[in-house]
Amino acid sequence: MTGQPDNLRVVEGPASPATPVAYIDGRWTRVEDYGLTVTIQGLHYGTGVFDGIRGYWTEEDQSVRVLRLRDHLTRFQASCRLLRLEVNHSLDDLAQVAVSLVKQNNHAGDIYLRPLAFATRLRPGSPFGVQITGVTTTFAMYCVPMPSNGAAEVAGVRCGVSSWRRVPDESIPARGKITGSYVNVALALDEAQAAGYDEAILLNHRGFVAEASTSNVFLLRGSELVTPGPGSDILEGITRTCVLQIANDMGLAVVQRDVHRSELLTADEVFLTGTGCEIAPVSEIDGRVFGEAGPVSRQIRQIYHDAARGRGIRYRDWATTVPLSARL
Ligand code: PMP
Repeated sequence: MTGQPDNLRVVEGPASPATPVAYIDGRWTRVEDYGLTVTIQGLHYGTGVFDGIRGYWTEEDQSVRVLRLRDHLTRFQASCRLLRLEVNHSLDDLAQVAVSLVKQNNHAGDIYLRPLAFATRLRPGSPFGVQITGVTTTFAMYCVPMPSNGAAEVAGVRCGVSSWRRVPDESIPARGKITGSYVNVALALDEAQAAGYDEAILLNHRGFVAEASTSNVFLLRGSELVTPGPGSDILEGITRTCVLQIANDMGLAVVQRDVHRSELLTADEVFLTGTGCEIAPVSEIDGRVFGEAGPVSRQIRQIYHDAARGRGIRYRDWATTVPLSARL
């Protein structure tokens, strides 16, 4: 790391959603002031990694509660390791950057933080072409306003099972958040939306359920909560981990295993979990209608949102609380 992020000069003037302040290559800068060049390696070859983290605004204490910050940053570091991207920031450094980012952007609302690292320039002597060594890394973190969907009753997600298969872990590691691999889910989502659905569910190359485009899948079958296991070519979602913990605490039997496509269609309840969609009940899959959210999906969603907003004492340790005391 080039210096303590908090010791670096902050950007002059207040940040606003239109001119957010970002941390890029060890400096605080405005997002629009960062000039990309066409030679950036990650742009050509998808050799980048990222993560996505939510911060929940709580009016009472004028704070942003950043959910599972260290877990997300640990996964980000693991993704970097997969692609040999050298970010040169310890976990504490990364957490400090995230906290500074929230403070500097000073947004009194829910936000989304995006750490990103990508292969940038060939080092002297490195030949032109695809490679992950002999290349410099850019590390950046920025945030944008992103209101939570909340626990209120909303129309469920209408899903189509995609004809595109989830890229197998043996081809592109599914447990890393690798920019290039998002071509896979972009194609699946595009196909689902073109067919009139909101979301795609992808099967893996063995024909079992993997995950939705940017979320994990849960099914309630009788009294059992089922979700594809880590060997199903999934990103091991952090919201998924939260739900596994909530379900255990509720006394539900939870099973991680291969899930057949037909189990999706015959489940009592299906819901998706992810930082972006939070806990999203599924109302339809391939024309089979489930209708409104079932009781277990609803209960888990309520507990998750209570935890995110810091209500109750359970799961308090999920949040890193960042007070915005000097709001402008
Ligand atoms: N799968 C994929 C492919 C994703 O991009 C995401 C979003 N990060 C998820 C699952 C859910 O992960 P998380 O709960 O950590 O956001």
